[in-house]
Amino acid sequence: MHQHTTPKAMIYGVMMMAMAQLFWPYAAYAERYELVSPPICKNNLSEQVIFESHDNDRGRFAAGMARRDGEGRPVVYRFNFQFAPAGMQHFIDLHECAHHQTGDIDRPHPPRNSPEHLMNESIADCIAILRIRDEFDMPDRLFDEIAAQLRADMSAAGFPEISISSRLSNISNCYADYPPAEQFISRILQDRG
Ligand SMILES: [Zn+2]
Repeated sequence: MHQHTTPKAMIYGVMMMAMAQLFWPYAAYAERYELVSPPICKNNLSEQVIFESHDNDRGRFAAGMARRDGEGRPVVYRFNFQFAPAGMQHFIDLHECAHHQTGDIDRPHPPRNSPEHLMNESIADCIAILRIRDEFDMPDRLFDEIAAQLRADMSAAGFPEISISSRLSNISNCYADYPPAEQFISRILQDRG
């Protein structure tokens, strides 16, 4: 079974929030948002990716997971999306979709925090922000919202400043300089043979 969870900050966040709530009753994530529509998403084999929402009572962070379900269908699971502002919901959807588009889901999962794993995450972040740039109205506003939210979440989850700033600078470089997502994806698929 291949499981892929992201953004990693969110997962640490879930654990951190669980602990924080013991002595920090004013959870910063009490606000609720409407769920956005999922993006169009096909994997590298042109299969339609399904988006499914799952909520649980304890989760206070939005998170996503890309994998194949029990019947082999490519799926993105959306966890507790009501706690994320619209821009962040789009970003998580697109990041998870990217793991299907690049075929990560069907490849052996690299060891956690290995360079290969971090590379896959950077690529998925990059594809997500390129689609924000090219497929949405007012992308600059969304970019700022997403960057601020990622910084806040990673910081709340205890990530060191170097991890936060390197993730944000990757996203920022992609947004400023990279070709449209489809070109970037074909290049990656070519490189991977
Ligand atoms: Zn990921």
